[in-house]
Order: sequence, then C-alpha cells, then structure tokens
Amino acid sequence: MTDIQRITVLGAGTMGHGIAHAAVAAGCDTCLFDVAGPALDRARTAIEAIVRQGVDLGKVPAPEADAMLRRLRTTTDMAQALDGTQLVIEAAPERVDVKLQLFADLERLAPAGAVIASNTSALSLTEMAATLSSPGRVAGMHFFNPVHKMKLIEVVQALETAPATIEAIEGVSRRMGKETVLVRESPGFITSRVNASIGNEAFYMLMEGIASARDIDKALKLGLNHPMGPFELVDVVGLDTRLSVLEYLHRSMGEKYRPCPLLVQYVKAGRLGRKVGRGVYEY
Ligand code: NAD
Repeated sequence: MTDIQRITVLGAGTMGHGIAHAAVAAGCDTCLFDVAGPALDRARTAIEAIVRQGVDLGKVPAPEADAMLRRLRTTTDMAQALDGTQLVIEAAPERVDVKLQLFADLERLAPAGAVIASNTSALSLTEMAATLSSPGRVAGMHFFNPVHKMKLIEVVQALETAPATIEAIEGVSRRMGKETVLVRESPGFITSRVNASIGNEAFYMLMEGIASARDIDKALKLGLNHPMGPFELVDVVGLDTRLSVLEYLHRSMGEKYRPCPLLVQYVKAGRLGRKVGRGVYEY
C-alpha cells in the first residue's frame, strides 16, 4: 500500500481535533468532518492553539506551522470530506448506532481502497467492519487524550483485519510521532483493562480500610513510579466513566471485573470527580 497522504477525520470533538492535528503534523492533507458546524469552528481554534504553542516552545518552525494549518480543511458535507481520502479515522460519539450508521455511509461514499479506522474505546470493530463489503480494511486506532501530548496508539486488529491495513496504520502512526502496540480486539484492549483493574483494586483497599486514599496514591507514585495515583487519576477520568468501563468488562469478561461497591456508592452520591468539584477528593 502506498504511503497515506490524505486523511479524513469524522467527529471534531475532544479526540477528533487532536487526531486532525496529529494528521496535519504528519504532513497529510486532512479533512475534518462533523455534523455540527460550531464543533468544527471550535476544533479549528483548538488546533491553531496547539500549533501556536508548538511555535512558542520552539518545537515547530513558524513556516511549518503555517503549512500545517493550510493542510487542514473542515466541512459538514460528508461526501466532500471523503473525496479522494486514503484513511478515514472515525471519532464520533461512543454509541454503536452512531458508529454503524457512519460505517454504512462509508460503504457508500468512501473510496473502495481507503483504510477505515475507528478510535472507539470499547465497541466492537468486528461488528463495525461487518457493515462493509471489504471488512479487511478496518482496524482500531485508539488514541489517548490529549492526543498531542500522549505518545501511544493502540492498533486494534478486528477478526478480519488484513495485514496491509495494520501496516498502513502503523506507518501513519509513526509519521504522527506516535508509538504503537498491536492488540487483538478484546474488551478494554490493553490500557483500559489494566487501568480499570488497578483503579478497582484501589477502591477495594479503601473500602477495606487498608490505607487512606492519600497513602494509596502516594504508594503507587513513589513506590511503583506511576505518574498519578489511582484516585487522582479516577477524579480526572470521572468516576461515572470508570464505572461504565468496569460494568462493560464485568459483563463481557466476568467476576474479576465486578465494580467495587464503594465506587458504585460514590457515583450514586454524585461524587463524579474533578468535573463536579468532588470525587475521591474535594476540589
Ligand atoms: P466528543 O463528544 O468530544 O466529540 C464527538 C464529536 O462527534 C462531536 O463534535 C459531535 O458533534 C460529533 N458527532 C456526533 N455525531 C456525529 C456523526 N454522526 N458523524 C460525525 N460526527 C458526529 O467525543 P470524544 O471524547 O472525542 O470521543 C470520540 C470517540 O473517541 C469515542 O468513540 C470515544 O470513546 C473515543 N475516545 C475518547 C477518549 C477521551 O478521552 N475522550 C479517549 C480515547 C478514545
């Protein structure tokens, strides 16, 4: 497969704008699509701010910054967004009905040879791929938030993903300056599964009165070199988001992932994390 030069990103939210930035930084002509015009305006502003910050920090020469921004187009017209594209990265809301509808649109509107990637955190890529006549061109491309700071992409192999699809995605990921890991489709991939397990274990320890939240955080930071403690992290992620990941892992993989009752209780109490000013800690 030839090197990818033209990328379309579907969905211009938290992840979509970061992915579009990574795509223009990799030297690709990039079209960002969203159903909402204002989301595209906000995304462009956010991308410009990331590029400007790169210039201010001396990481990006000013002429390259201008070239990066010239490589970015935005549109609410999907056919236009997909015209001539070689790689589609889907970053629409995490709802299976939304993703399946988008994949049906891709079957109609995207060039037959384009690679199709989804940034889904948990949904089945195999199910999305099944809506296409050539499921081999679908894989997962799981970025992390904020995209411009996080080095990793989990490349997710669905049941029928072709080796050439993985190769193309790994190649473009490298040009984005990212490292990749390859994982077969499975609930939570690598990162969400391990992270949810550590966070759940920490809640069990707190519930059992083994140590205070502060000391559990301190132990993992200073003893195990984690950059953040599990409670500091869950307060950023959102306790409700963490609970829904654990419920999904529990449903799909059994007892080992049963959400700790204390986490469930915190969510019922509305202690959802930093976003509401109160989670495990008060802000
Ligand atoms: P978001 O809500 O910030 O953005 C979603 C965007 O999609 C919005 O701008 C919305 O207008 C747009 N949209 C809605 N319907 C659409 C459609 N039919 N076609 C195109 N765009 C549509 O969501 P997000 O946090 O960026 O998440 C996007 C995807 O990335 C989800 O699958 C999520 O699970 C995954 N993800 C999120 C994170 C994170 O930390 N937020 C991390 C990794 C992966």
